[in-house]
Amino acid sequence: MDIDFRKIREDFPILSQKIYGKPLIYLDNGATAQKPQCVIDKVNTLHCEMNGNIHRGIHFMSERCTEAYEAARSRIADFIGAASTREVIFTSGATASINTVAYSFAERYLGAGDNVITTEMEHHANIVPWQIVCQRKGAELRVIPFDDEGRLMTEQLEQLLDDRTRLLCITQASNVLGTRPDLAPVIAAAHRAGVPVLVDGCQGIVHGGVNVQELDCDFYAFSGHKLYGPTGIGVLYGKEKYLAEMPPFMGGGDMVGTVSFQKTTYAELPLKFEAGTTNYIGAIGLGEAIGYLQSHDIAALLQHEAALTRYATERLSAIDGLRIYGTQPHKCSILSFGFQGVHPFDVGMILDKLGIAVRTGTHCAEPVMTHYGITAMVRASMAFYNLPEEIDRLVEGITRALRMLRA
Ligand code: PLP
Repeated sequence: MDIDFRKIREDFPILSQKIYGKPLIYLDNGATAQKPQCVIDKVNTLHCEMNGNIHRGIHFMSERCTEAYEAARSRIADFIGAASTREVIFTSGATASINTVAYSFAERYLGAGDNVITTEMEHHANIVPWQIVCQRKGAELRVIPFDDEGRLMTEQLEQLLDDRTRLLCITQASNVLGTRPDLAPVIAAAHRAGVPVLVDGCQGIVHGGVNVQELDCDFYAFSGHKLYGPTGIGVLYGKEKYLAEMPPFMGGGDMVGTVSFQKTTYAELPLKFEAGTTNYIGAIGLGEAIGYLQSHDIAALLQHEAALTRYATERLSAIDGLRIYGTQPHKCSILSFGFQGVHPFDVGMILDKLGIAVRTGTHCAEPVMTHYGITAMVRASMAFYNLPEEIDRLVEGITRALRMLRA
């Protein structure tokens, strides 16, 4: 059955907002996506009617919240194709997920003289934690470069891998270039060299999903708020064989078996990595967001995004002096661009006054800016609730802004 994308927007109350008296055109979905009413209602209802700290109380509300939290974990495990809920850890977001691996994996597996490989197109969240840990451990950080078209030069991986490589950290989809590296051969090559792979799925999960077992990645990180769920919740998937060996990242309540001053034992997976009160309401909200997606034909949602991306590419490319960065086939619905002689911030500010929300700046990926010798870009990132006429408004807005700024 065909999806009515105009109707689907009614599920997202914020989309009917006016900004400066103009209908909101929200094209900053790569930064955070808007929430459907069912997610808002779920979080609200829990706060109003059913809030008790999980895994602790024997009272009614604590038990109901624990059940809902663990049900959300099961739904997420199914959604990402994990072998078991033991491999699904709730964190505060992708950044926390990656830092958990950076700390705990490194504690167990990384030493002086070892190396970790990342790529030039990563978000800072998949660069800085590795720099910190490599400095701490006396290890080296190696980088797979990309070319000017935004293609990750994965053919260089073989030269970077050696018998001291302990981990490869790579994005499923670049939040700037939209590139989706072909991960299967990369992961296979790393595994042939005995190297596990962490995939940053922050954008990838939104624009195509994942099956972690088919992909055979060893760790997978994503954030709830980009997947139409609440903020402050994220997921770390990890293969049990690694998680079981890794020491906990944080100590505290709920991650322990028994505690005494002589000896403390840790809880079983996944709770070993969930110290303290987690964002259990956020986790339940994320489960709801995934349920919302699953109640639609997800393939059709993605086709709509792909059609929007083609349309936006075509229309933006026709603007005089506009350059799109990242022109790989099959890119996800993220378009970053700059202008000859005009600063992206100036365009972004004028677009804002027209009610159009785009991202301007480095997109937390300064090495990508450095690659092109620039300091900022504009980014339009589309979700399935965006419409072609919003792209038309964006193009009109940019044309108007350029006319004003070049005058
Ligand atoms: N990785 C990628 C590819 C991203 O796009 C982002 C956020 O923009 C992150 C990691 C970090 O996500 P968060 O800030 O939700 O932890």
